[in-house]
Amino acid sequence: MTSDTNINSDATSAPEYPGKMNRRKALKYIGTGAGVLAVGGTTGFYGYNRSLRISSADAAKLKNVRFVIAGGSIGGITVAARLLRAVPDANITIIEPKTIHHYQPGYTLVAAGVYKKEDVLYDQQSLFLPGMRWVRDYVSAFEPEKNRVKLGSGDFLAYDYLVVGMGVEVNPTSVEGYSEAIKTPHAATIYDLESGMKYREMAKSFSGGKAVFTFPAGYVKCGGAPQKITWLSEDLWRSNGHRDQMDIHFFTNHSSLFPAVPKVDAAVTPLIEARGIQNHYQTEMRAIDVSTRTVILEERMPDGTTREVRQKYDLLHPVPRFRTPKPLREGPLTAEGIGGQIQVDRETLQHRRFPNVFGVGDCAATGAPKTAATIRKQAPAVAENLISLALEREPTTLYDGTSGCPLLTRYGRCMMFEFDFQGNLVNEWLYQSTRETRLWWNFKVHGLKQLYRHVMMNGYV
Ligand SMILES: Cc1cc2nc3c(=O)[nH]c(=O)nc-3n(C[C@H](O)[C@H](O)[C@H](O)COP(=O)(O)OP(=O)(O)OC[C@H]3O[C@@H](n4cnc5c(N)ncnc54)[C@H](O)[C@@H]3O)c2cc1C
Repeated sequence: MTSDTNINSDATSAPEYPGKMNRRKALKYIGTGAGVLAVGGTTGFYGYNRSLRISSADAAKLKNVRFVIAGGSIGGITVAARLLRAVPDANITIIEPKTIHHYQPGYTLVAAGVYKKEDVLYDQQSLFLPGMRWVRDYVSAFEPEKNRVKLGSGDFLAYDYLVVGMGVEVNPTSVEGYSEAIKTPHAATIYDLESGMKYREMAKSFSGGKAVFTFPAGYVKCGGAPQKITWLSEDLWRSNGHRDQMDIHFFTNHSSLFPAVPKVDAAVTPLIEARGIQNHYQTEMRAIDVSTRTVILEERMPDGTTREVRQKYDLLHPVPRFRTPKPLREGPLTAEGIGGQIQVDRETLQHRRFPNVFGVGDCAATGAPKTAATIRKQAPAVAENLISLALEREPTTLYDGTSGCPLLTRYGRCMMFEFDFQGNLVNEWLYQSTRETRLWWNFKVHGLKQLYRHVMMNGYV
């Protein structure tokens, strides 16, 4: 098990990657990050600590209410911690099967050689605040009519209020040949920690040929991650002198690089095009032929027809579609047309048919990006609405649709921005959202993990 303060502990070694820092510089930037957080806390710019106070009489009424949370990751734990801030002796049970928690936003940095594996691992037990009861099992079925969940053990767990934060996972069956390809020496993914470490070695030793990256249709966990690893890889190869020996292709199902936020899309596209990465739009990966090292894709043409595209690769970063865990996608909490996500109101996060059930984070059908940054804004709404309902009041706290993204464009550079449901930038001037800056790179590398672990997971959000 690793200490949760063990960030990039090899920072004193000679830089192997562009922009890698020594320990002194790292400390300097941790200081900067702390400063940004402090400023954020007072201005409401990056920090966000709305108080969640209720009267002691109301807190007493909630003492025996059973809150059950399915999924003990950033979504589930942040909601639980927010509840405890308001009701210190609340009855909270968290169902989570894993004993090691993964800080997934760090996966890209592991694959890029900036973090070590240990930097993204936490002992699951260490995440729970006193007052959170851990059931080390998984939900095998939801029974919302009976206000209970079935566990892997076969036991049932009853609740008064249920929060579902079970995340999403890569769907390997959505691309023929994916499971086979990902085991070969030529393909790896940042959506899995071990595979991300394999990618790091592949990228480091790649000295020429065709490098192919893909982006799928449907909802995507951290919709910026497939671009980030493409751009960081290009920068690595440029700095180690191999860039001229390779063709880099990025195939995306979208019509542009970052359509969710038009202003960022407009700023980033010329920067990436100038680096010679060949972007292919409206194109989705359908299959991988391992024997000939070929990706088979489907391109949508302007006249509505499609055509097959075949692309050879020497290095492949394939991203298939995503899905929710089985009990969710095949159970009663989802609905037609939402890809197995939990069917919630996108603002209150309350289930549309079962009022005592809420969704949070990646598995919730809100249309918001599937990021920890989204959860930072959703979790307070979920906790406040749970408390309102338990006190027989209306759930009136609304998630406003804002999310954020640290878009790593190259080693040492990052665009940081927040945006709303409509894709408009929020606090654009304060973030200098469309500029690649070293400050935001350092904040991503040294500050955001602390925000995730020590601010969000302790309920300060
Ligand atoms: C490569 C990569 C890069 C990313 N980069 C960023 C970034 O830069 N910024 C950012 O904000 N976000 C980023 N993210 C996204 C972020 O990690 C997710 O949005 C976040 O982890 C979602 O949290 P969650 O709690 O909804 O789900 P998860 O963190 O996925 O957790 C789901 C939990 O549910 C549990 N679970 C699953 N099934 C069951 C079951 N049947 N019963 C009980 N429990 C179950 C799992 O064990 C897990 O602990 C990135 C993710 C990846 C993979």
